[in-house]
Order: sequence, then structure tokens, then C-alpha cells
Amino acid sequence: MDRSLLDTLRAELERDRAQSMELLDEHGANPYDEAVRDLQIGNDGFADSAQATEERAELLGQIEASRSRVRQIDEALARMEEGTYGSCIDCGTTIPEARLEVRPLSVRCIDCAQKAD
Ligand SMILES: [Zn+2]
Repeated sequence: MDRSLLDTLRAELERDRAQSMELLDEHGANPYDEAVRDLQIGNDGFADSAQATEERAELLGQIEASRSRVRQIDEALARMEEGTYGSCIDCGTTIPEARLEVRPLSVRCIDCAQKAD
């Protein structure tokens, strides 16, 4: 794989990871366990309101999405280190660079991705 594309994608993933980590940090969460230290909603006397419940659910959804994103990014970065990034994890074929540019977290070629779905 083209070295400069790899560097570009790595920088992109690291930026993405930093953003997700920021959201997790803000709420005392981290990508490696399910605990949320301080969810800053409902501490102002409106804890039982429907709105607070809704906001809480939405925030937990964001936290869960960020966690799974950080884990996926970590895996992609590890594959970059190993030199296996860009190879399909199922058939080993080289994933087209155009696909990686659009979806840097792709781990399968298009054929295998369709079979996996
Ligand atoms: Zn494949």
C-alpha cells in the first residue's frame, strides 16, 4: 500500500480517535469497560423528568458508539503497525485503496463484506 496514503489514513484515524476519547473523558467513560463515572445529566433536580431520561439515553448511545469506534480504530492502528492493514481479514486479498479512503476502518474486501452482512 502507498506509504503516503497509509500516513494520511493513520493521521485521520488518530484524529478521529482523539475526538471519541474526548467525549468519553468528558463523561468519565473509557473504551475498555462499561462504567460511566459521571453522567452529567439529571443532577439539577430534574432527574426524573422525561427529558432527562431521554438525554441520558442519547448520551449513553453516543458513549457506546465512541467506545466501539475507539476499539475499531485501535485495531486498525495495530494492523498498520503489523503491516497487515489493507488486507482482507477473511480472504487476504488487498482491499482497494479507494475503499479504504472512504472507509478507513474497512477490514474486508467488498466481496467478503457482502458475505459477512
Ligand atoms: Zn475478502
